[in-house]
Amino acid sequence: MPEGLRAIVGPMFSGKTTELLRVLRKYAIAGYRVILVKPSTDTRYSVQKVVSHDGLEMEALVVEPSYAGISRVADLLLEHDVIGIDEFQFFEHSRELSRFLLELSERRLVIVAALNLDFRGEPWEIVKEILPYADDIRVLRAVCTYTDERGRKCGRPATRTQRLLDGRPAPYESPRVMVGGRESYEARCKRHHVVPKAPR
Ligand SMILES: [Zn+2]
Repeated sequence: MPEGLRAIVGPMFSGKTTELLRVLRKYAIAGYRVILVKPSTDTRYSVQKVVSHDGLEMEALVVEPSYAGISRVADLLLEHDVIGIDEFQFFEHSRELSRFLLELSERRLVIVAALNLDFRGEPWEIVKEILPYADDIRVLRAVCTYTDERGRKCGRPATRTQRLLDGRPAPYESPRVMVGGRESYEARCKRHHVVPKAPR
């Protein structure tokens, strides 16, 4: 039986959901019982489906992103061999939750896909909590789409998620969670990741 904890991390547009769905599908084809979980805060595209940016899709169990939300479906999770969790960064920072998932990963294969950093370039607490325990960490990078005044694109590997408000870098004080797609986010390399701070 597959078991252990795997993490897929990277900025937006690095293909995390695609990679998660690809791995889950592989286990499903091999005859394992596979389930996909997603937090209820993510309303992109549809409520019961996870759709990757390139159109792969799979039914998902939508849960409240907390220990309470996960433990409510614990019995259902245990009926599966492989448990994928998308947008894991949106789950609350909770010792109980990380302990639950670590214990689950001793009997099942748990795969979490998460943003490495928020738009400010700071780590998500729940991701930080669980990453050291992962048996396997897959780091994905996107391509920096920063474009200079002359219209030249950067093209370096991107590890950051740039938030844009009306086409300009969102300030540090902007709310941490803001669901959006290409109109409000870009993948950027470290050099071109900009987070203006309000003057004091
Ligand atoms: Zn760049």
